[in-house]
Amino acid sequence: MKVSSINSSSTNIAMQQRRTFTPPPSKARIFYNDHKATTYSSGILAAGVGVIYLLNTKHISTLAKSIAHSMSKISAEPVAPKRLASIMSGDELLTKLPHLTKTNYEATPENIQKCILKADLHSHSNYSDGTGLVKNLLDDATDYADVLFNKTRQKFIYALSDHDTVEGLKEAMTIMAGNPERYNNLNFVPAIEVSFAHKAEKTGNPCEIAELLVYGINPYSPKVNKFLDNIRQKRTDMIHNFIKEASKACPLTKFSFDEFSKYYEFEKYGNLMNIHWRVYHYAQTKHAVTQHASRMNQNPELLYAKIMENSKGASIGKLHDDGKLPADIQESEAFKDIMHKYEPHVENGKIIASSENTFEEVINAFKDEKGIFMAFAHPFYYAERVDNPAEGLKYFMEHSNGLIKASESFHQAYQSRIRPEDIENLQKETEKLGLLNLGGQDNHNRKLFEYN
Ligand SMILES: [Zn+2]
Repeated sequence: MKVSSINSSSTNIAMQQRRTFTPPPSKARIFYNDHKATTYSSGILAAGVGVIYLLNTKHISTLAKSIAHSMSKISAEPVAPKRLASIMSGDELLTKLPHLTKTNYEATPENIQKCILKADLHSHSNYSDGTGLVKNLLDDATDYADVLFNKTRQKFIYALSDHDTVEGLKEAMTIMAGNPERYNNLNFVPAIEVSFAHKAEKTGNPCEIAELLVYGINPYSPKVNKFLDNIRQKRTDMIHNFIKEASKACPLTKFSFDEFSKYYEFEKYGNLMNIHWRVYHYAQTKHAVTQHASRMNQNPELLYAKIMENSKGASIGKLHDDGKLPADIQESEAFKDIMHKYEPHVENGKIIASSENTFEEVINAFKDEKGIFMAFAHPFYYAERVDNPAEGLKYFMEHSNGLIKASESFHQAYQSRIRPEDIENLQKETEKLGLLNLGGQDNHNRKLFEYN
């Protein structure tokens, strides 16, 4: 049962990866692919060569070339780098950051209407925990990019940055290469948000998970893909081990990976940090419902299915709140030790994290990628969990192989409890470290802009 469920999830990924690039037949395609233009001899054709030459002078980033090269290797026919002209590398993005202010990242109706919005460098699709399809998010970004360009001659900079996966980026590459002219006014930055465990003195654990945004990556990079496959495997193994130990601790309750996967949405959340919480809630709710079923002389599996059908991802507290579980059936102590073993934690000063990367592992995975850089994602969430945030951020920066060059000072999705002056104070600290500022909506919705 376990094996089949792992296989089905990896088959889906394999299917996504196997999707090859097949550009639709169009005039543009012939035009862009025609490198033999210089062999034309007649005057009329020479004029044509001039047009081709002008198109060819459009700047193509080294990143676009390397992605086109990667795509060509796995597709039926070669992908000309010019088809990916809208791709912006990390190096290019770095040169733009000093010219962008806080308001340029604020996607308010007014800023959109007045074309003050210039960039969005943090967003998620349904390849991680967002709900938007890559195609639709790209469409939203591109529609706005066209308006912005017509009014200001500036291109909208947009980064898709899913959690610990590059599959959405691969789809974006295929879409853009299939119709390059559609994306003329967009600067698309292929990005990813990767997590790592760190010490967090101010929390009860005291180990927490922070995130880095990586800009300008080639989603086909073998090293990056290997790193991502590895963390997914680590998380899958952790869930299996957790369930095995829960079964041993409570042999009268029947636990299974398939059941966990169904009601705690492994396909969607299996590749995310904090997956240990989902498997913990699964163990608790399954055990509680099994006790409830035994009192009522019901089949625990059927009762669990009935209760969880509309309560996916629920904790026991949520089942109590929704009146689906009697209040006297509480969380069991049995799973707390198992949870402690599998959640990222500190032992003898060392971080132990079976389902998370360390900071060093993240840096090691990306240090050989060309033209990329990293930024601290929503740095205030890190700052509020440690005693000396500036010192911590400085340590990470100095141990990042020169990769960390920015901080998401203009993150647009901070909880309202966080005071703007505290965010600004942290910004002053990161600026003192020489980090550039950037920002993004951290959008998880179907539409990229709430107001369009
Ligand atoms: Zn995010």
